[in-house]
Amino acid sequence: MTTAIQALVPRMQSICGPGNVITDPLELRTYECDGLTSHRSVPALAVLPATAEETAAVVAACAAARVPFVARGSGTGLSGGALPHKDGVLIVMSRMRKIIEIDPVSRRAVIEPGVTNLSVSKAAAPFGLFYAPDPSSQVVCSVGGNVAENSGGAHCLKHGFTVHHVTGLQIVTPSGELTWLGDGTGVSTGYDLVGAFTGSEGTLGVVTKIVVKLMPLPQVVHTLLAAYATTADGGRAVSDIIAAGVMPAAIEMMDALSIEAAEAAVHCNYPAGAGAVLIVELDGPAAEVEAELATVRSICEAAGATEIRAADDPAERAVIWAGRKSAFAAVGRISPSFIVQDGVVPRTSLGAVLAQIASLSEAAGIRVANVFHAGDGNLHPLVLYDDSVPGQEAAAEEVSGQILDACLEAGGSITGEHGVGVDKSRYMPKMFTPTDLDTMQLLRCAFDPASLCNPGKVFPTPRLCGEVPGRRRAPHPAVAAGQAEIF
Ligand SMILES: Cc1cc2nc3c(=O)[nH]c(=O)nc-3n(C[C@H](O)[C@H](O)[C@H](O)COP(=O)(O)OP(=O)(O)OC[C@H]3O[C@@H](n4cnc5c(N)ncnc54)[C@H](O)[C@@H]3O)c2cc1C
Repeated sequence: MTTAIQALVPRMQSICGPGNVITDPLELRTYECDGLTSHRSVPALAVLPATAEETAAVVAACAAARVPFVARGSGTGLSGGALPHKDGVLIVMSRMRKIIEIDPVSRRAVIEPGVTNLSVSKAAAPFGLFYAPDPSSQVVCSVGGNVAENSGGAHCLKHGFTVHHVTGLQIVTPSGELTWLGDGTGVSTGYDLVGAFTGSEGTLGVVTKIVVKLMPLPQVVHTLLAAYATTADGGRAVSDIIAAGVMPAAIEMMDALSIEAAEAAVHCNYPAGAGAVLIVELDGPAAEVEAELATVRSICEAAGATEIRAADDPAERAVIWAGRKSAFAAVGRISPSFIVQDGVVPRTSLGAVLAQIASLSEAAGIRVANVFHAGDGNLHPLVLYDDSVPGQEAAAEEVSGQILDACLEAGGSITGEHGVGVDKSRYMPKMFTPTDLDTMQLLRCAFDPASLCNPGKVFPTPRLCGEVPGRRRAPHPAVAAGQAEIF
C-alpha cells in the first residue's frame, strides 16, 4: 500500500463508515477483474459509498491526494473497463441501488447507479411501462455501468441504445463536485453533455443518479424462429426484412456451433441440423404486428428457411429466446476457455465477413462460434480455445484481432456495445487517426485535467492533459514513474 493510500484510509472510513472500506488484500481480490478475466489488477483500496454525497467526498479525497480512482458497477463489463488501478481506489457502486422515483405521467424513472437493469422494467411494469435497453446481462449489470458503456442489447435495433433513453445524469466530476448534466426532459439546450458522458467508459466522472425514459409496454409481441442451412441464407433474410421497410424489435442469429453449445446447456430444442437460426421479434400495436409478421414469414421462407416457428405466448417466446440468451455462458460447455469478441459490420457485409471469420478460424485451427445482433450488424464471435494447451490462448487472441481487422476493412467498428476498456485500446489507432484521438483527449481533459479518473482505459497509451505529443527535453515525472507514456 502506498503512503498516499495509507493516508486516505481513515478519511475514507470517516466518509463511508469503517465497514465499507476494504483494505484486506484477500477481500480486495474480489474486484481484481470484470467479465474480461484475462486482465487482472488488485486495487489498493475499495470503498463502497451509500450516497451521492459520500461518492463526491470519496472522489474529492482522491483528487486532493492525486490518487487515481475507478468506478465499478456489477463488474460484468467485457472489455476491462472496471479493471482497478493497482495504486488507486476502486469506488464500488453496489450499495447505491435505490429506485428513487417512477413517474408514470412523464414516463420517466430516477434511479441510483447500482440499480440492476432488469429491476427498472420490473418496477415500471405495474404502470404499463418498461425500460428499453436490455443487455443480455440485464439481471445483474447496473444501469451506471450501462451508462458508462452505452450498452445495447437484442432490442436496441428498434428501441435504441442506452444513450437514447437517458435524459439526465447526476455526476461527481473528477475533482469531486456533484453536478447535473441534462435536466431530465431530454430537450435541454446547449451542448449535449449527457450524450458525451454516455459511453465514456467511466473516464469523465462517476454517475450518482440517472434519469431514464420509460416506454409503454407493447400491445403484442410476436417471436419467430427460422432455421437455415447456412448463416449466408439467414443473412439474406435479414437484409430483405430491413429492405422491406419492417423494423423488428430484434433480429438475432446463431450459427451451428453456438446452437450446439446452447443445446448442451439449456436444451433449447432448436431445429435439428440447422446451420443457423434467426430469431425475429416484432412488437407494437396488434394490427401492425400481424401485418409485419406475415411479411417477415414470407421473406424468411423465400430466403430458404427449412423450418419456421412462431410464438406470441410469453412462455413459448421465452423458450425460443432461451438458447440465444444463454449463448455466451453456454459456450463454456464446449470449450474450456473463450474470448467474447464484439465488432460491427455494415449489415450488407454480414455474409462476407462471416465467411472471412470461417477462413480465419480454419487457418488457425481455432473454433469460432458466432452469435450476433444481425439487425444492426453487431457480431459477437466467441473464439474458443483450451488454455491448458500451450500457444492456444495466443492463437485465439490473434484470430480475435484478425476478426476486428476484417470488421474494419468492411467499414465497421472495433466495438458495438462492450466498449474499448483496456482490451481494445490497442486497436483504437486502427480505427481513429492521431488527430481523432487528440480530439477525444481534449474532451477527457476538459472533465479530468488531472487524469485521475479511470486512467489507462480507452486511449492506446495514457497521456496526461496538456502534454504535447513529441519529443520532450526531460521525461514527465509520471512517465518516469511508469504511470504514463507519450504517444
Ligand atoms: C453474459 C454477458 C452478456 C452481456 N451482454 C451484453 C449485451 O447484450 N449488451 C451489452 O451492451 N453488454 C453486454 N454485456 C457487457 C456488460 O454487461 C455491460 O457492459 C454492462 O453495461 C456493464 O455493467 P456493469 O454494471 O457490470 O459495469 P462494470 O463492468 O462494473 O463497469 C463497466 C464500466 O462502467 C464504468 N462504471 C460503472 N459504474 C459507473 C458509474 N456509476 N459511474 C461511472 N462509470 C461507471 C466502469 O468504470 C467501467 O468502465 C454482457 C456481459 C456479460 C457477462
